[in-house]
Amino acid sequence: SSNTVSAAPILIKLQRDCATPLPVLRHVADAMAADMRAGLEVDGGSDLKMILSYVDALPTGNEKGLFYALDLGGTNFRVLRVQLGGKDERVVETEFEQVSIPQELMFGTSEELFDFIASGLEKFAQKEAGNFCLPKGRTRELGFTFSFPVKQTSIDSGILIKWTKGFAVSGTAGKDVVACLNEAMKRQGLNMRVSALVNDTVGTLAGARYWDDDVMVAVILGTGTNACYVERIDAIPKLHGPNSKSGRTIVNTEWGAFSNGLPLTEFDIEMDAESINPGEQIFEKTISGMYLGEIVRRVLLKMAEDARLFGDCDPEKLRMPFSLRTPDICAMQQDSSKDFEVVGSILHDVTGVSSDLIARKIVVDVCDTIAKRGGRLAGAGIVGILQKMEDDSRGLVFGKRTVVAMDGGLYEHYPQYRSYLQDAVTELLGPEISKNIVIEHSKDGSGIGAALLAATNSMYQ
Ligand code: ADP
Repeated sequence: SSNTVSAAPILIKLQRDCATPLPVLRHVADAMAADMRAGLEVDGGSDLKMILSYVDALPTGNEKGLFYALDLGGTNFRVLRVQLGGKDERVVETEFEQVSIPQELMFGTSEELFDFIASGLEKFAQKEAGNFCLPKGRTRELGFTFSFPVKQTSIDSGILIKWTKGFAVSGTAGKDVVACLNEAMKRQGLNMRVSALVNDTVGTLAGARYWDDDVMVAVILGTGTNACYVERIDAIPKLHGPNSKSGRTIVNTEWGAFSNGLPLTEFDIEMDAESINPGEQIFEKTISGMYLGEIVRRVLLKMAEDARLFGDCDPEKLRMPFSLRTPDICAMQQDSSKDFEVVGSILHDVTGVSSDLIARKIVVDVCDTIAKRGGRLAGAGIVGILQKMEDDSRGLVFGKRTVVAMDGGLYEHYPQYRSYLQDAVTELLGPEISKNIVIEHSKDGSGIGAALLAATNSMYQ
């Protein structure tokens, strides 16, 4: 109909504003590398925090024994145990459990929360049997994945800066979260200690590295996004203190805070302004799962209001922030029927509008535009990290097989996003170098990764 045709100029402008031709990608990759360098010079030197993980011994495959992991990063915590059998036997057995955290504990005291977690761990440890075996007289060791901002001070200590993601627990900020957990375990009578405090990205790198020595970078693309990589100690001017034996350490970039040279639209700017953290996490707001659906929603709302994309339907539900989610736009992009029935029914179910074929095609183009920009910018970010490593190692990255371990629901479930990301990496690196760069899904490696880091940092070795 003539109504929907008038949405075309909005689409064309959107595509122009979101365009990521090679020069834009190159600029983003270069800026990422420059920001990384600035963040390594001095704390606060850049948008990128470049947090030192204190992980300087990565899993080799030789690890042996029983190790535990605890992952606290949202409304659930996960506990896991793994029996490692060394080079030949590898992972003999794993077991895990998930426990949801009662709402009231998210608003309670630090002791209450950590006591609840330690009691869950204690019950889990009680069920240790079968192939799991702790040598007599030994304390169990735990890798603790804690996905909140901490100022790490060693491999097994870190001060909580602030709770995020809806947690408002009193009495933890400014304290060492490892000490909090160790004390709670003691109160529970549980003979276990934290050997490694790890960020989830770092856990993913360690988990992937256990199977493949060429893993150098890990990237999470889920609700949010982050990346870490293996850095040379002498490339970290802000690091004063004892050198690691290996001469290398993992650096957590906190790349979600990157903002340099991104192609942003009016929709991004409005979304940011109305967010709970305006001006922050701009890269994350452009490429991660929490936001892609919301950007599309804002575009569709404008098309509905200014160009009557959905005819006379009142796009009431489309006015609700975050009503359209990234899995919805992903599902719409998978619709291969000739009249876009799936798109029509998702639009109807989620936003309450009815749509004709022309409108549905425009909607798919909007989804594609936002996913394409996100995937390609994520790819440019990865190349920025690789470029930084290459420049400082004089050819030790691009000249050999190098693996980037990827995890997170967005990367896992959104095939178009994944292939746009790969396209950008290939375009930037060229056909020869990109043959050496393997971008690979490493599913749920972060739990085992934390247990592996407990093993590499074991007090018994
Ligand atoms: P989190 O990042 O919250 O720890 P995940 O790594 O599982 O957890 O990522 C979940 C996110 O992945 C969701 O918020 C969503 O944005 C994205 N996601 C999940 N399923 C899909 C899907 N089918 N298509 C696209 N994105 C998805």
